[in-house]
Amino acid sequence: MSEIMDGLQNVVQEMNKACKSVHRKPSDVCLVAVSKTKPADMIREAYEAGVRDFGENKVQELCDKMERLPKDIRWHMIGHLQRNKVKYIVGKVALIHSVDSMRLAAEISRLAVMNNVCQDILIQVNVAREETKFGVTLEETMELVREVAKLPNIHICGLMTSAPYVEDPDENLPIFHKMSQLAVDIRKENIDNVDMKILSMGMSQDYVAAIKEGSTMIRVGSKIFGQRYYTNSYVE
Ligand SMILES: *Cc1c(COP(=O)(O)O)cnc(C)c1O
Repeated sequence: MSEIMDGLQNVVQEMNKACKSVHRKPSDVCLVAVSKTKPADMIREAYEAGVRDFGENKVQELCDKMERLPKDIRWHMIGHLQRNKVKYIVGKVALIHSVDSMRLAAEISRLAVMNNVCQDILIQVNVAREETKFGVTLEETMELVREVAKLPNIHICGLMTSAPYVEDPDENLPIFHKMSQLAVDIRKENIDNVDMKILSMGMSQDYVAAIKEGSTMIRVGSKIFGQRYYTNSYVE
């Protein structure tokens, strides 16, 4: 068996186990295979194994891959998005995970209107307030959700976070718990044009912990595709 198939099978098995341990249905958690820096051939292999959701963090790389790979792939923009690049992906990606300002949301909305599409997005939350990470604080989230919800042709489907790097994944349980609680609080407000169906949290190091705390979408890269090497930029 190839390493990708092996990794994939492992992740799916652990996902199922984690779901079972907290009495959740495995079908309630979507696996996004994070393919950044990895070539199209590797993505195709995961695709053949049944994966349809892939995550990328660079617009150029995402667009290149979108062009070369099957059209039924759901692409996820998971990295920081600059406003001048929105035009390349709006209406083309299934979900933008990284909306963390009104200015970015307004640009997505403007271009979605122009292209006559509706763009699904998540609000990125920096729960641990890490300086190296993007996202709004827990306290700022409700306000941003309310503002973005008023914009046309953009739909808030939930929240996204990346937890800190830790030795023991259980250290991130409180972070994931706070995210779930925030989603509950927002849901209670019944804001028009806002769903809290998607909680995008959990990566290779901590997806089991995230699932235990209610994640509905995990973003897993290295556990499927192997370690990433950043010395060379992405080339096919
Ligand atoms: C790279 C990345 C991931 C996947 O990381 P792994 O540790 O390889 O699973 C998930 N989310 C975001 C936002 C990323 O940039």
